[in-house]
Amino acid sequence: MKTVCVLPGDGIGPEVIGSAEKILVASSNSIEFVRGDIGESSFKKYGTYLTKDTLGLMKSCDSCLFGAVTSKEAPDYDSPVLRFRKELDLYANLRPVRTLVRMPSREPIDVVIIRENSEGMYTQNEVYDDKGVTTMRRVSKLACERIVSFAIGQARKSMRRKITCVHKANVLRASDGLFLTIFRDMMRSDGKGLTASEQLVDSAAMRLLTEPSSFDVIVTLNLYGDILSDVAAGVAGGLGFAPSGNIGPKFSVFEPAHGSAPDIMGKGVANPTAATLAGAMMLRHLGLQKDAETVEHAVGDFYASGHLTVDLGGRHGSESFTDHVVKSIRR
Ligand code: ATP
Repeated sequence: MKTVCVLPGDGIGPEVIGSAEKILVASSNSIEFVRGDIGESSFKKYGTYLTKDTLGLMKSCDSCLFGAVTSKEAPDYDSPVLRFRKELDLYANLRPVRTLVRMPSREPIDVVIIRENSEGMYTQNEVYDDKGVTTMRRVSKLACERIVSFAIGQARKSMRRKITCVHKANVLRASDGLFLTIFRDMMRSDGKGLTASEQLVDSAAMRLLTEPSSFDVIVTLNLYGDILSDVAAGVAGGLGFAPSGNIGPKFSVFEPAHGSAPDIMGKGVANPTAATLAGAMMLRHLGLQKDAETVEHAVGDFYASGHLTVDLGGRHGSESFTDHVVKSIRR
């Protein structure tokens, strides 16, 4: 039996995670859930967005399923997401994006974006002076090596053939240059049999829209990966379609790539697809391959039989989606 720490969080987090939980329970006899507080619910009870107890709970479980938290704009805001990524050393962010519903104006997409998750622009190291603010951006040799190594391992595991390094080394010559050099070296040594390709981040953003089939696996730095995965999600139909896994040497946290979407909270229209597919990624990570496939097939069947969720202009809200998928699994 595997124990999963469920952290629903804020906004639509509890809605989409609630749906995902029901679907996972229907598909697997090998997981049990324990619940933790994060975000607003934690702040209201304990005065902090992430407590040491929640972190301890996350570490004691086999994996975690997280919804979303609403970020605050206050300069002293301590993001619970950045904190757990750091405390649990979740250095790799794995974001597969695949078209489930063909749309006339969009090319189909099937890409895995692997984003360095521990440094880059997300070190929250911003220094004010009387003229403005300087943001420190860290790119270390170790972080580049382990994310490229992760990308190579992931490409092999998922039978993919090509890895594209997305960077801006023509401008950020030292930092992105280091990342690119390490990518080239490691693809020559560890990446034998895989095709290595390189792309500037601005042209990669355009090509994801115009020619998504030219990508297979993308490995990139933190900020670029964050932006490109939303572009890719847009090509696949919207943020409701992009699951995400944060993975480190010991711990893992799976979540939908979207945020807390407070604008649609409580309306019953949030699409639980991304949260559900994040749950399937988690099952696979835990070695429950068959259960993961059951979930993915049931979600695929929902769309293949012509159903559309509200975010795609259809009539199926969160509950209706969940009922259909659970029924399909039970059948
Ligand atoms: P946060 O501050 O937590 O990042 P946000 O609203 O700024 O929240 P997202 O949650 O990523 O950012 O969402 C952007 C928009 O995409 C939302 O306003 C919402 O309308 C839409 N959206 C996001 N997730 C979903 C979903 N699961 N189903 C339907 N629409 C969604």
